[in-house]
Amino acid sequence: MTATTMEGARVVVTGGAGFIGSHLCESLIAQGCSVICVDNMSTGDPENLAEVERSPRFRLVQADVTEPFTVDQPVDHVVHLASPASPLDYLRMPLETLRVGSAGTENALRVAVAHRARFVLASTSEVYGDPAQHPQLESYWGNVNPVGPRAVYDEAKRYAEALTAAYRRTLGADTAIARLFNSFGPRMRRNDGRIVPTFIDQALTGRPLTINGSGEQTRSLCYVDDTVRGLLALMCSSVPGPVNIGATQELSVREIAELIAREVGVELRTVSQCLPVDEPGRRCPDIEAARTQLGWKPEMHVAEGLRRTLEWWSTAYAGGTPSRMD
Ligand code: NAD
Repeated sequence: MTATTMEGARVVVTGGAGFIGSHLCESLIAQGCSVICVDNMSTGDPENLAEVERSPRFRLVQADVTEPFTVDQPVDHVVHLASPASPLDYLRMPLETLRVGSAGTENALRVAVAHRARFVLASTSEVYGDPAQHPQLESYWGNVNPVGPRAVYDEAKRYAEALTAAYRRTLGADTAIARLFNSFGPRMRRNDGRIVPTFIDQALTGRPLTINGSGEQTRSLCYVDDTVRGLLALMCSSVPGPVNIGATQELSVREIAELIAREVGVELRTVSQCLPVDEPGRRCPDIEAARTQLGWKPEMHVAEGLRRTLEWWSTAYAGGTPSRMD
């Protein structure tokens, strides 16, 4: 089992004000690290950092990583999470998404190289596109339509992976690639368009849950604490990856709707809408590499993860009035 304690490490987290990034920052601060979060707040929320900002070991730098940036103190790790991640966000910001995957990744890599720091790229299962292989193994090259609307995200991440691998090969940079699958938990914005917050919001406000297409397409849902543990394990290792980090329980979209309606305590009502262009049909990781190389596997049961998410939701969106950025 790889050690995941990083006491004293100095870490730069790009995209640290977002959903996964803020949980990562919190975990790093709790482990005694110093953290510099670089975020332009395009999809992040300063409220996500309310807890960590109390620590003298935490610093927020509001900046766009598509512009070159430097760090004026020693750095041991750079974790590059900055990127719109929900389809609504990246379809709204297509050029920004391509730029953060390309220029943003190179700027973050340059900081890592300048400090001889380990670099971890948060890539995505979307590099597999609409997969023709199932479950998805890291050796699968994927099935992405390079000119479809989703390509701005998928291809940006594929380029980011290629760049990361090239920095390793040509410059000897210490790099790693994590391919994250769907994650969920507290701090997802209720209107960000991803399946879990969308269904929760619809169920809590008495609306039918919108099912794209037949609802037979599948996803696997990894609780954010597990995702963060996976990232930490990769940071602490010397494994280059790519390594899949995700839950292995494959659920159809319809099953996810049923589960969320049950946890919210409402009768399931659904309404169908067209399947978005190039939406993947099946999505579930093979996590053997993470198990054997990092000693990592997800631990949270999806129903318990949903309960924790709902508990957070009831405070964050108290009485239906947003206390947070929507
Ligand atoms: P998020 O949108 O909540 O967070 C992304 C953060 O990046 C935000 O705080 C945003 O403001 C910041 N950002 C975006 N562009 C930036 C730029 N140019 N400069 C500086 N900051 C910028 O998304 P998330 O769900 O937390 O995802 C984090 C990372 O993990 C992303 O790279 C995403 O592709 C990857 N990922 C997430 C999931 C998931 O299920 N959440 C799955 C696969 C991969």
